Amino acid sequence: MELWQEMLRQSVDSGKDLVDRFGFDKELADRLNKLFHIRINPYYLSLIRYPGDPIWLQCIPDAVELEDRNAPEDPLNEDADSPVPSITHRYPDRALFLVTSQCSMYCRFCTRKRKVSDSTKINAKWIQQGLDYIAAHPEIRDIVLSGGDPLMVTDYVLERILSSLREIPHVEIIRLGTKMPCVLPQRITPKLVKMLKKYHPIYVNTHFNHPWECTPEAEKACALLADAGCPVGNQAVLMKGVNDDPDVMLELHRKLLKMRVRPYYIYQADLTKGTNHFRTPVRKGLEIMDKLRGHTSGLAVPYYVIDAPGGGGKIPLLPQYVLGRNGKDIILRNFKYEIYTYPDVEEEQPEPQLVVETKYRRRRRLTEKKVVPNEPVKRELEPVGK
Ligand code: SF4
Repeated sequence: MELWQEMLRQSVDSGKDLVDRFGFDKELADRLNKLFHIRINPYYLSLIRYPGDPIWLQCIPDAVELEDRNAPEDPLNEDADSPVPSITHRYPDRALFLVTSQCSMYCRFCTRKRKVSDSTKINAKWIQQGLDYIAAHPEIRDIVLSGGDPLMVTDYVLERILSSLREIPHVEIIRLGTKMPCVLPQRITPKLVKMLKKYHPIYVNTHFNHPWECTPEAEKACALLADAGCPVGNQAVLMKGVNDDPDVMLELHRKLLKMRVRPYYIYQADLTKGTNHFRTPVRKGLEIMDKLRGHTSGLAVPYYVIDAPGGGGKIPLLPQYVLGRNGKDIILRNFKYEIYTYPDVEEEQPEPQLVVETKYRRRRRLTEKKVVPNEPVKRELEPVGK
């Protein structure tokens, strides 16, 4: 057994653990564990500094989860775009391929709670169905392996999936959506990255939400991936009490760049059942973007997006930089709120086309009948019964 697997075995993963370690009431602990399974591996647990801190909030259940029962289970309507249970095919040229329901830490804010942690939701038969679906759809050139966390499967199983994908000629790009570099960096081993190298181009999208997660262990994991030629991007989720502070986000994104991780998205929290307490006003996200752009390297500035409820896809949001127009000038403001004018290019109006009338056209025009607009036809009404 590898170290990461041994660490997983030592996870906090039951209502009883919550009672013994954190003093939860037994009935409450059982209800929360039933609502969404608990799993916190010892590495992530060690990052907690005090009860209720940004790490705690992400992994320790909260009684408020039980109150939020009206939100949808599938806010992004992924299941409507699932031709087979392991595939979501929403965009023309790419597909999401779920290869496991397991994660090394069950995040209390997870969008895919309806599937994650439930081992009956993804099985080997469905993985094969997913491969068959991708092979039968030549328009799919980009695969996002997800779950759960695709690095929860063994290197052997992962290699079987990757090699099967690489046998499909139209699959150009493979992306791994994994939280492992953040929550269990010991999973990123020299053996794993040596295997990944065989199946390039492989991109990795990981998921850090707070600067305290940028540890030496996480840095080493990201370096292993980057050295193996996998570009690593980060998708953070904006959450109340975790990172809804411009200074925290600035620190996080600067640290990520130092770890060779390119900030990619900040997601507005989804409307998933049991997660409402994490949601923040959109104004907060715009304020954070305002604090990033211009105040740090452009490389550290991600897109702030709302994944539109119901399956509309990601919609980017930006603070207002264009203030208006004065004639042909555009009025802009910069990151210091200084006003600038930019002379826009005046677009040329298309000139009216000169039509040379040929002899033939002229004759046709003169002989054409004048079209008289249809007039209502007046009819004599006949007496009924004639
Ligand atoms: S690692 Fe990802 S899929 Fe797993 S619980 Fe966390 S957010 Fe959900």
